[in-house]
Amino acid sequence: SALRPSLVKRTKTVCTYCGVGCSFEVWTRGREILRVQPRPEAPANQISTCVKGKFGWDFVNHPDRLRRPLVRRGDRFEEVDWPQALATVAEGLRRVREQHGPDALGFIASSKCTNEEAYLVQKLARAVIGTNNVDNCSRYCQSPATMGLSRTVGYGGDAGSIRDIEQADVVLIVGSNTAESHPVIATRVKRAQKLRGQKVIVADLRRHEMAERADIFLRPRPSTDLAWVLAVTRHILERGLADERFVEERVEGLEALRASLEPYTLAFAEQTTGIPAATLAEVAETIGRAKSVCCLWAMGVTQHHSGSDLSTALSNLLLLTGNYGRPGTGAYPLRGHNNVQGASDFGAMPDKLPGYQPVQDDEARGRYEAAWGVRIPAEPGLDNHQMVEAIHQGRLRALFLVGEEMGLVDANTLDVQAAFEQLEFLVVQDVFFSNTARFADVVLPAAPSLEKEGTFTNTERRIQRLYQALEPLGEAWPDWRIVQGVAQALGADWHYEHPGEVMAEAAALTPLFAGVSYERLAGFGSLQWPVAPDGQDSPLLYIERFPFEGGKAHFHPVSFAPPSEEADGDFELHVNNGRLLEHFHEGNLTARSAGIAELTPSVFVEVSPELAAERGISDGALLRLRSRRGAVEVRAIVTDRVRGSEVYLPMNARRTDQAVNVLTSSHTDPATHTPAYKELAASLEVLEPS
Ligand code: SF4
Repeated sequence: SALRPSLVKRTKTVCTYCGVGCSFEVWTRGREILRVQPRPEAPANQISTCVKGKFGWDFVNHPDRLRRPLVRRGDRFEEVDWPQALATVAEGLRRVREQHGPDALGFIASSKCTNEEAYLVQKLARAVIGTNNVDNCSRYCQSPATMGLSRTVGYGGDAGSIRDIEQADVVLIVGSNTAESHPVIATRVKRAQKLRGQKVIVADLRRHEMAERADIFLRPRPSTDLAWVLAVTRHILERGLADERFVEERVEGLEALRASLEPYTLAFAEQTTGIPAATLAEVAETIGRAKSVCCLWAMGVTQHHSGSDLSTALSNLLLLTGNYGRPGTGAYPLRGHNNVQGASDFGAMPDKLPGYQPVQDDEARGRYEAAWGVRIPAEPGLDNHQMVEAIHQGRLRALFLVGEEMGLVDANTLDVQAAFEQLEFLVVQDVFFSNTARFADVVLPAAPSLEKEGTFTNTERRIQRLYQALEPLGEAWPDWRIVQGVAQALGADWHYEHPGEVMAEAAALTPLFAGVSYERLAGFGSLQWPVAPDGQDSPLLYIERFPFEGGKAHFHPVSFAPPSEEADGDFELHVNNGRLLEHFHEGNLTARSAGIAELTPSVFVEVSPELAAERGISDGALLRLRSRRGAVEVRAIVTDRVRGSEVYLPMNARRTDQAVNVLTSSHTDPATHTPAYKELAASLEVLEPS
């Protein structure tokens, strides 16, 4: 190579995109990114990466990057220096707190930021402002999985490691477009299927790549998965395929589970889901007779009004068949953002202190109160969804948003935007001027992952360090430094010199991370929580006991309920939604990476050949989709990935007039308030045939 080695800097980092947590070296010369070099010692991915991790970095040098703090002056924004910006933020937050009390303020941490930054955001809310109103965007995706696992097995995290998925005899994938959303995990499954004859069962509405490759593909009617999961569980019990010894020794509540399953025959499931009873019997036999089963799921499970119950039912099924605590077994809710796991782990939740300790727990709360020298409210605060409601009701007056594009990614987004207009004070901290920033009073320029140090926790609970490859652009600051600046401007005595000091504090106060330290995480080192004080980590959970009193897991009975919104007369289509391989979420980063933007420049809607024939639609036709909330205009692609009157609209639009969340509703999963994004009916109008 013509690259002069002396000018090239190699820095170990962790991918900023999905929850697989690929780590690699990034080669830079000045601000130029020359190459992403996978390394065999990378614990989650070894030498694999996907298109986003390999080519998705140009955004760091994009001309749209925020370089200086902005303060609103009437209808426009004015660039100011940091002392002025921080003083304005402190004044705004203080004013609302003095006039309306601490619970009139809310804080949203980012699942793209580091663990240390999530920890500091919740500390700012709790210790400096005095409210538990703090949350993060796992509320939009994986909170129901966390709920399902906490009810049944204890920890809201993957039961084992990515390598366990490869070792399983059977992999059950429900509501996850793994090949596009978690490509490196999909590669492991494909390899195991080919080399070891691993059986793959996929349940999804859409015939995506993993569905094509599946040994059994289940295609239920929208929002009916719970019916077939319950029926398969019942069938396993009835046919004596349960792991009786495991259940006897390690699980409580079998009789309650058995009674709750009574209505869910295969015939009921066939009628509800449209999947033939014989196919479901085959699924039950396959799972019941397998030596080891892993279950992977994602938003196709969680983003329903029954998301928590479906997650619970999948975990019940694994317990009944003895599929926890051994290599190749367990539940794997696949985390979306790079640090969606860590943002919750480190306490950016309204009801949990770091390490999932309830805020109501006097002993746990007392530990943080003593260390921080403050009183923390003993009642849980508002979650993300409740904060928006509280703004509408005039109870929440100020919001501090870290790296969260709430104005596009929240369900029923026009309603959320209307809420923003009512806020007295909104602070947005981000890498780019987002749609949400339009509503802000102060916009603070943040540094992306390549410009800072810290740790991310991937989907397998693995904590990994990222090192700084570039200096922050312009006057951008790492988020931890911004949050500290705000705390100091409010009078707090914070003096962190480096994120390692934040981690040391979090580890000292949080039993789950007791043995975590930057030294133990050096280089490509990593630790999977829980981490004992001596540094012993936990690649596989539940080997001997479940973290409940008595050490046994719990069957948690649930029941089927129809979706919150279904296609009907006026709104005749079901609109499924999700990701594309090339883009990430609303595309604020990937759409600013030249290579990726060329591959997939704009969103489209997938239409089935049947629907296309019926309505005279061909590729490129301009369609208007209208729901009870709003309308979007997008071009069509005709494909048999979707069927009948189901269409698929990727969530990656950056423009409000194309964003699926203009259409989605405010219905939520009652246990977690996660929006039922996937329960969406719309009408269709052809504006231009093609
Ligand atoms: Fe790995 Fe996910 Fe990044 Fe792709 S987007 S490189 S799979 S972490």
